[in-house]
Amino acid sequence: MKIAIIGLGLIGSSLAGDLTRLNQHQIIGISRRSTTCEKAKKLGIVHQSSIDLSLVQGCEIVVICTPIESTIPTLAQIIPYLSNTTVVTDVASVKVPIVREGKKLWHNFIGSHPMAGTAEQGIDAVQKNLFNNAPCVITVEDDEDREKGALLRDLWQSVGCNILTTTAEIHDQAVAWISHLPVIISANLIYACMQEKDQFVREFAQKIASSGFRDTSRVGGGNPELGLMMAKNNRDNLLENLRLYQAHLTGIINDLEEENWSKINDLLTFTNQSRSDFIK
Ligand code: NAP
Repeated sequence: MKIAIIGLGLIGSSLAGDLTRLNQHQIIGISRRSTTCEKAKKLGIVHQSSIDLSLVQGCEIVVICTPIESTIPTLAQIIPYLSNTTVVTDVASVKVPIVREGKKLWHNFIGSHPMAGTAEQGIDAVQKNLFNNAPCVITVEDDEDREKGALLRDLWQSVGCNILTTTAEIHDQAVAWISHLPVIISANLIYACMQEKDQFVREFAQKIASSGFRDTSRVGGGNPELGLMMAKNNRDNLLENLRLYQAHLTGIINDLEEENWSKINDLLTFTNQSRSDFIK
């Protein structure tokens, strides 16, 4: 198959590399800067690479891996070069706005979201086997999508993904819980910690911070552009979850004020069990 990957950053270049190494497809890499395209060729992660979007001509599948805000403008630009049967997908971490607009522009547009990544950006972050064993959501709204999504299922499975299918709405509600809310909570943790008024205490805390703080602060210390894009594009779900979180937090503060240790114990016993059930 001839497959085009647009946007050779962390996700795009890693996908291009894994697909090229399969030796089954012709992989075309398209990116914004020609230096990135040159680098992709040098690294051997694509068969052909250029900044010219018309290279999507003749491709069976196009995967748009640009930043979220460029996904739909990029789709609009490639439409004149697509053949009727080309399936176009994206990898954006938020699906409702992308799938809604994507489907208006192209009849064979189906959303994807491989749940894999690192804190790094750009082609220098390229990683072999990034998608191995990662869940990948393919958004299907109806039976027609299910049929069209078969090609994408094969594509993501071939790089090691475990496929899940659902609607864009369910996807966005779920990622708000497990990805977007944790980013905001973790960012707030870092921020609150930095507001400690006593400089000696703050600096001492920094000296003794170890794996616990590293774990809980990791996602809040990630790429700010990506976090902002998630918040903007999944605002309603994120707000709803944050309000629920706020209500629970108020409950915990009350329990602490009232020294209601049995309720605190119940909470921690419940979360101790739930975490291991949730993260199987
Ligand atoms: P990234 O490393 O910043 O890569 C995006 C690349 O796209 C840039 O390096 C840039 O390459 C290129 N680009 C930017 N604008 C472009 C345009 N208009 N046309 C063509 N290429 C363009 O970002 P990423 O982490 O790979 O994220 C890309 C997408 O994957 C986003 O939609 C994100 O939501 C999704 N995603 C990210 C993760 C994660 O953990 N990072 C996980 C799952 C999904 P040059 O300027 O060098 O050409």
